[in-house]
Amino acid sequence: MVSTPTDSSTSRNGRRTDDPRLSQGRWLRIPGPTVLHPNVLAAMQGDMLPHRGPELVGMMERIYSNLKWAHQTEQGVYVWAGTGSAGWEAAIVNLFSPGDRVVAGVTGSFGDRFATIGAQFGLDVHRIEIEWGQALTPEQLADAFAEHGPFKGAFITHNETSTGVTNPLPELARVARENDALVVVDAVSSAAALPLEVDAWDLDWVLSGAQKAWMCPPGLMISAVSERAMAASEHASFPRFFWDVKAMAAAAKANGMLTTAPLTMLYALDAALLAMRDEGLEALYARHARLGEHVRQGLVAAGLELLADPAYASDSVTAFLAPEGMTSSQFQERLREDSGIEIALGQGHLADRVLRVGHMGWVEQPELDATLEAIARVAG
Ligand SMILES: *Cc1c(COP(=O)(O)O)cnc(C)c1O
Repeated sequence: MVSTPTDSSTSRNGRRTDDPRLSQGRWLRIPGPTVLHPNVLAAMQGDMLPHRGPELVGMMERIYSNLKWAHQTEQGVYVWAGTGSAGWEAAIVNLFSPGDRVVAGVTGSFGDRFATIGAQFGLDVHRIEIEWGQALTPEQLADAFAEHGPFKGAFITHNETSTGVTNPLPELARVARENDALVVVDAVSSAAALPLEVDAWDLDWVLSGAQKAWMCPPGLMISAVSERAMAASEHASFPRFFWDVKAMAAAAKANGMLTTAPLTMLYALDAALLAMRDEGLEALYARHARLGEHVRQGLVAAGLELLADPAYASDSVTAFLAPEGMTSSQFQERLREDSGIEIALGQGHLADRVLRVGHMGWVEQPELDATLEAIARVAG
């Protein structure tokens, strides 16, 4: 029999789902895009609405309010069509002017890209290069301010997805604020998975993408923006229309968006936020902490070496080294053949040696156990 997308034994993208371990996206264990929450999948069936009509206003009001809750902030949170990378550009053009001096913690390929984009826009970027697998420490950031400052902003990657390291954000933010710098945070793989308190930690621009821990498809960029950042935007001279936070804030005040709202993605985000509210932030963070520990223990039990310094190991993604005599691509391919489970390769100079397992968003222990068992078989 020819299988069609509606067969119960195949998922929409042709993966076998008759194996219960692989059902409902359980084979997808890369650090984004991640498995969709079932309520998110269902919500995306919704038809279009007038994008400034009353139904939409009600939903936007709920989304904005729930996003503030999820970021632990009373200040603004805005949503744009885009992916995480859009957040880097939006932060840069709204907060700075060409020639402004910023400091960037480079702990992996995402920190590298953030710093590189800043330089492409004409910022004077001082890079703190950290060995991959290690975290940026508050002492290193303080030294950079003392030796190379002042800086108008600090670019910090909260969770470095390429290495599985969570940088100590509250302490880093404190150093940056003591030095009067705007704290610009890439939270793409931490928001909605790891504790993140925008107001208590005094963060200025915190960007993320819907396809990581928010349990949604790729297509939305989310940014929490402080009052101080709004004030800084008054003096930022980069041209901007689509990313203009002042215009977006005005639209959000009327519970709308600046341009045509990406409705299907907003239905998804609304459903995801409601699911998060049901679970509660404490429980959600505790689940990620428990699963992160479980994955690290499972990989070590399989005889594999983890990349991240254990003191800063991420609870949303884990990177490990391919066993002796195998490249990461070979390992990935064997895992795919053995189990159908997809994990990600390393990035940058570690692409051939490192593999990464995502455990953020809509995930529980059974699917991670299936992943760990399959990894152990391939590691032999
Ligand atoms: C995935 C990721 C990005 C890039 O996001 P896109 O949605 O692919 O643009 C940026 N930073 C971090 C930390 C990420 O994990």
